[in-house]
Amino acid sequence: MTTTEAELAPLEFAVTKNLAAKSPAQREELLKSPGFGTVFTDHMVDICWSARGGWHRPRVQPYGPISLDPAAAVLHYGQEIFEGIKAYRHADGSIHTFRPRANAERLQRSARRMALPELPTEYFLQSLRELIAVDGAWTPSGADQSLYLRPFMFAKEAFLGVRPAEKVAYYLIASPAGSYFKGGVKPVRIWLSENFARAGRGGTGAAKTGGNYASSLLPQAEAYEKGCDQVVFLDQDGNVEELGGMNIVFVHRDGRIVTPQSDSILEGITRDSLLQLAEDRGHTVERRPVSLREWRDGIASGDIIEVFACGTAAVVTPIGALVTADFEEAQPTGELALSLREELTDIQYGRAADKHGWMHQLDV
Ligand SMILES: *Cc1c(COP(=O)(O)O)cnc(C)c1O
Repeated sequence: MTTTEAELAPLEFAVTKNLAAKSPAQREELLKSPGFGTVFTDHMVDICWSARGGWHRPRVQPYGPISLDPAAAVLHYGQEIFEGIKAYRHADGSIHTFRPRANAERLQRSARRMALPELPTEYFLQSLRELIAVDGAWTPSGADQSLYLRPFMFAKEAFLGVRPAEKVAYYLIASPAGSYFKGGVKPVRIWLSENFARAGRGGTGAAKTGGNYASSLLPQAEAYEKGCDQVVFLDQDGNVEELGGMNIVFVHRDGRIVTPQSDSILEGITRDSLLQLAEDRGHTVERRPVSLREWRDGIASGDIIEVFACGTAAVVTPIGALVTADFEEAQPTGELALSLREELTDIQYGRAADKHGWMHQLDV
């Protein structure tokens, strides 16, 4: 790309209103108990990209099926990336999102890895504002509720040859989300996947791309079969990687907080934010490889006092048990995970000062 961010003119979105939009009464009914990922708002945003024309034809249009050529590359070779970010309703009615530039930059990193075009940060932010401008009323105001925003990009060129597509689409859809944990945050049981990996050295583990999720479905099904809620993956060296869609964090008795780092782990924005809040409280944070042996020894010796998973959807989930084919180990649960969760959600919902400048108002 030749234009730099500074030279970008704002996009002019063509807006087509949904004539079959839900009535306010229908919407309010759906917002009472939206669950996760099943209810969608009335509109969607899309922007086209072509190798010749760059980003063009930005639109806001009625939410609905996408028409694709059966030869579209994404359907064959999985050239696809996505993001997950929430919009929060504050007490005064205004709508805010959290660290959207970090999501825009991660979408750009994912794009580089998957040979897709990089959507400029300003276009990403504009797409969020455009959707909120038409569908902001879908942002619920109940406790722990939010509007989950799902930006995604895929190869739509009709071509069965294997090379980066020259026609790509970026879309943004939104889905109201209820409290992830009905009846309070509960520790989860996690299954250690010993037969399957989610990523490998030099692979796509650090990109938010559908294939990583596709390859986690079978181990996830195995986890359910074993009475577990989630899977934790190891890398080829026996180091702990992450869960299928959440990062993992270990709290040590001496106040250190340790989290795995490698180029096969998806760098979570929730994790980064929680660790920043922990550092603000005086904790030391270590980002480095963590072996399964270190984890198990730490539990046995009492050196590790808490283990939790984190990500945008559930925010923080304490881990209550580690289960494998050979053993089951109870994990200690403490108060740090939940207290960091509360501090983070207080910022996100506008109940606490935003001292890091993380919040970004969307209904402007
Ligand atoms: C999205 C995602 C996470 C969590 O990232 P957040 O930015 O905190 O939502 C962790 N692991 C994987 C594999 C993910 O796709």
